[in-house]
Amino acid sequence: MRLAIFDLDGTLVDRTSAVADAITTLSHDHGYGPEIETWLLTELADHADRADFDRLRAAFPIAESSDHLWRVYIDRMASAVTCRPTVLDALTRLKDAGWSIGVATNGASDIQRAKVRATGLADLIDGIAASGDIDVRKPDPRLFELAAARCGTQLTPGDWMTGDNPETDIAGGYSAGLRTIWVRGRTWPDGLDTPHHTVDDVTEAVDYLLAHSR
Ligand SMILES: [Mg+2]
Repeated sequence: MRLAIFDLDGTLVDRTSAVADAITTLSHDHGYGPEIETWLLTELADHADRADFDRLRAAFPIAESSDHLWRVYIDRMASAVTCRPTVLDALTRLKDAGWSIGVATNGASDIQRAKVRATGLADLIDGIAASGDIDVRKPDPRLFELAAARCGTQLTPGDWMTGDNPETDIAGGYSAGLRTIWVRGRTWPDGLDTPHHTVDDVTEAVDYLLAHSR
């Protein structure tokens, strides 16, 4: 059984457009003006946590509780986030070929799992490790180890990590002893070991894994 671990945001799902949609809807539903919407778009651009809504309430006079806003945000993100059918199809082929599919993601457990359920990825993924589960973030190898454990296995040489972030996914994958596939998009930083393979889209990463699995 071979193991392929994937990053979630920006690799399997398109977080960027979903964040904008979710924040616009959340702001509209609560009658928030453009200052609050802009604040949210800026502060939640890279990642979001319940504590971000504590900071929002400290910055603006808002009646709703942080817990309420965080729940609404999770709900709106789950509605807004998408996984393209070609990606679902690629993972189905990988699964049919006998691979275990894990996810290692930096993010709060509740929102990352809501996204996985809402996109249909839950049916294809054997195990998810979210950094919020154990307070350990990629590139720490322990998050990759947890992903493998949640798939009912352990990391072995020949397993693969695929993601869009050079530091957390590729350098992190290396530190966990994995082979790595980078989904291009950002600038590659100086001084990092180059990935084993580079693609423009995660579906190409799956094609590569299938071609090299024998
Ligand atoms: Mg990512």
